[in-house]
Amino acid sequence: MKLKILNTLSFKMLVLVVFVATTSMILPAKNRLKTVVLDAGHGGKDPGAGNGMEKKYALDITLELGKKIEANYPDVKVIYTRDSDVFVPLHERAAIANRNKADLFISIHCNANPHSKSLRGTETYVMGLHKTQENLDLAKAENNVILYEDNYKKSYKGFNPNSPLAHIMLANYQNAFMSQSLDFAAKVEKNMAKQGHSSRGVKQAGFIVIWETTMPSVLVETGYLTNATDKALLGSDSGREKIATAIYKAFKEYKTDFEK
Ligand SMILES: [Zn+2]
Repeated sequence: MKLKILNTLSFKMLVLVVFVATTSMILPAKNRLKTVVLDAGHGGKDPGAGNGMEKKYALDITLELGKKIEANYPDVKVIYTRDSDVFVPLHERAAIANRNKADLFISIHCNANPHSKSLRGTETYVMGLHKTQENLDLAKAENNVILYEDNYKKSYKGFNPNSPLAHIMLANYQNAFMSQSLDFAAKVEKNMAKQGHSSRGVKQAGFIVIWETTMPSVLVETGYLTNATDKALLGSDSGREKIATAIYKAFKEYKTDFEK
């Protein structure tokens, strides 16, 4: 009799073990946002827009954003493509993210428009075909930095940053993470507005740096250095802090949704 109870018990245990093992194989592992790559645009011999203002402000905002993520999410690995004033080729920035199997890539820049001093506000870009000449011109200007690289023709397989057609072809490579990139981009722009910055919305264009990454990726233009209001905002500690806060809040919301 005792033996029978024991047998029944061990059978139940066996069923339980098999059940747990099977379901854990069938059910996908819970999504975790474990690694984020923060990419401060330009640096070193590449000054960016506004005679070096862009490379400086982009780095300040990036480091501030990283500090916030590190302080609030010690389990998230924050990787910087640069944390000082050095030159890093575009393909290397993407490679850093790919090598580290990042879950999210955020490239941070400042905008400039040679034709208008009144244009102001933030724009968050995902890969895709530009809808306006301005968006194309911006992607061309940002991609032009590959000319600072010694072997750019080899590194980018003959990509000509001055050719509009090359940008159209680039933009047509659809990223598998388009919907997640769009989701994060929308969260960035919403939070920029909440922080009192002027949001110009989510946009699309062919940027080399987010084309080469293999995870959800955005490029944030944090304001126009050619506009007096934006320039003052980007030039002040409190302004850059607001921008870093907006991107941090977007990160927080995205991480929460991602891990649901
Ligand atoms: Zn830039």
